[in-house]
Amino acid sequence: MSVLAVHSLSKAFGGVRAVNEVGFAVERGEFLAMIGPNGAGKSTCFNMINGQLAPDSGEILFEGKNIAGLVPRTIWQLGVGRTFQVAATFGSMTVAENVQMALLSHAREIYSLWRPAGEMHRERALDLLEQVGMREAADRPSRELAYGDVKRIELAIALANEPRLLLMDEPTAGMGARERHELIELVKRLVVERNISVLFTEHSMDVVFAFADRIIVLARGRVIADGDAAAIRDNAQVREVYFGTGKTFAQSTSQGAAS
Ligand code: ADP
Ligand code: MG
Repeated sequence: MSVLAVHSLSKAFGGVRAVNEVGFAVERGEFLAMIGPNGAGKSTCFNMINGQLAPDSGEILFEGKNIAGLVPRTIWQLGVGRTFQVAATFGSMTVAENVQMALLSHAREIYSLWRPAGEMHRERALDLLEQVGMREAADRPSRELAYGDVKRIELAIALANEPRLLLMDEPTAGMGARERHELIELVKRLVVERNISVLFTEHSMDVVFAFADRIIVLARGRVIADGDAAAIRDNAQVREVYFGTGKTFAQSTSQGAAS
């Protein structure tokens, strides 16, 4: 069974068909990129899968269960994580406390949130921070962190919930080329170890082609291509929708270069 199977998913805003009869699947352990020009409907898709938006029609099966229209908290509790929401961390708490909060919340010890996080789950929090390369920052206030470091903490927070599917809408927004590469490389390493499936959007084609197992291309609310990097690079319709946007598909595989 696919981890995620989306069927005939649609959402309109007034007269705009933001997502129009979209269908795709995410398999166990897959690192899947969704790309497409601005306004293609990527965020609308993500927001329906995570529960922030209710679909007009269609099915979203997570491990076989239809989650379409459920509230975000329920979807998150079922095992669909997401990262990199603005203000996901609390600046007044330390880095470790932020991760401890996530661990507490995952353990459903909600009442504990009214007490200081203290030592609860501290060891596991430190372990997660170690894995994202942020162990030394554990006792610093989150507000002091640099932007790229906040992203790493957000990743630790997402992993604290032990999701089986992780949604990342533009995780590297605002980052330079090298930082982007490093963040996605880190995410991929950590999710492969845990057999977590990932659906992500990303503007850098270099990053997409370097890391994605498979790529889904959206344009004007519809899926126009679904395949591996080589197939997407050589797809005429994909090249056409990106024509004039400044994106390049430099290393064409049509001359036989393997990717
Ligand atoms: P992407 O993430 O691929 O850039 P979006 O899903 O954000 O695309 O947007 C798809 C289309 O839906 C666009 O035409 C956008 O203007 C429109 N749209 C998205 N969200 C809303 C909203 N809350 N209200 C009205 N229109 C929206
Ligand atoms: Mg978007």
